[in-house]
Amino acid sequence: SLTLSRKAMAVKPSSTLAITAKAKEMKANGIDVVGFGAGEPDFNTPKNICDAAVKALDEGFTKYTPVAGMLELRKAICDKFLKFNNIKYEPDQIVVSNGGKHSLANVFSAILNPGDEVIIPAPYWLSYPEMVRLSDGVPVYIRADKTQNYKVTAKQIEEACTEKTKAFILNSPNNPSGMVYTKEELEAIAEVAIKKDIYVVADEIYEYLIYGDEKHISIASLNDEIYKRTITCSGLSKSYSMTGWRIGYTGSTKEIAKLMSSVQSHLASNPNSIAQKAAYEALIGPQDFVYDMKNEFEKRRDYMYERISGMKHISAVKPQGAFYMFIDISEVLNKSYKGQKIGSVDTMASILLEDYKVAVIPCNDFGFDDHIRLSYAISIEQIKKGMDRIENFLEDLS
Ligand code: PLP
Repeated sequence: SLTLSRKAMAVKPSSTLAITAKAKEMKANGIDVVGFGAGEPDFNTPKNICDAAVKALDEGFTKYTPVAGMLELRKAICDKFLKFNNIKYEPDQIVVSNGGKHSLANVFSAILNPGDEVIIPAPYWLSYPEMVRLSDGVPVYIRADKTQNYKVTAKQIEEACTEKTKAFILNSPNNPSGMVYTKEELEAIAEVAIKKDIYVVADEIYEYLIYGDEKHISIASLNDEIYKRTITCSGLSKSYSMTGWRIGYTGSTKEIAKLMSSVQSHLASNPNSIAQKAAYEALIGPQDFVYDMKNEFEKRRDYMYERISGMKHISAVKPQGAFYMFIDISEVLNKSYKGQKIGSVDTMASILLEDYKVAVIPCNDFGFDDHIRLSYAISIEQIKKGMDRIENFLEDLS
């Protein structure tokens, strides 16, 4: 019969994309919308990286490469892992894929059997549960409230473990909260993962975007036992402003890397050859761009945080990394706008978009139905304009 896949039909369309699409449409119609939805840096990919791609084309580097990525790129990734993350991987432990998302999807294909549970701490990036389900796994949520700075504790993870638990997803710096786990917190989490004998899927895609005195620590760098159980996932999208190039990678045991390559060999083959050359240049070329971008994000974070802190009815914990501000709007839900109780975060987001021309991300799909996420990957002028508008909205509530 012409029925369709139940698994595919169960995938929830991304709410983030829906609101961004609506904002784009309004902009196209000449409406001056401030978009706080951006999930990508507002910088161009650096010129040396683009030039490397042009050179690859000129030199005819346009054919299949090894499935897991060309050796020279995997070696450069090993160097980066050693220098930046303090983790030692060999090239045959690296798999390069079509973006960080594809890397994560490969990980779940390689480690999950039907019914295996994956512990996901909320707030979480909305793609994790869908990816786990697509690999026949079962997402199990634990919640990290504002009082714990949106970070779960080792004890919470331990309590959520059952005999079916296969893995725990650790995303630091975190999307949407911007929180960064400390070495001590990671040590405690590693201890639980070892005791319960589960994998840690460490999504470190925002690793370079950390502000102030915070430091990025990779859980796999802590000791040999946790190294064996961790799949370290990263990519070039956020650090080098290369979201469109689609290059992500993982470091894991050889055994897992082999399985991921094998899956990828049938579903996608190698990632784009030209993008691989560009990625190689990104990793071995000058790194000033990364730090300049980070400094700019830090200024915007400080400005946005100061503005939010001065507003009534909403509050945020100062983010330490990535480029998002996670805002508690629970008080707003009990307020009224034009005589009607607001009630839901979706309603709040709609009012902001329609009446105040500000696009924000309601976080129900991130596991928090009383929070919104604002990205500061937009210019400071835009941020200022958007903050003024949100402030006006809050003033108009009764
Ligand atoms: N992980 C997190 C937490 C993200 O926010 C993103 C992008 O939004 C990714 C992974 C994947 O990035 P990409 O597939 O663009 O490399």
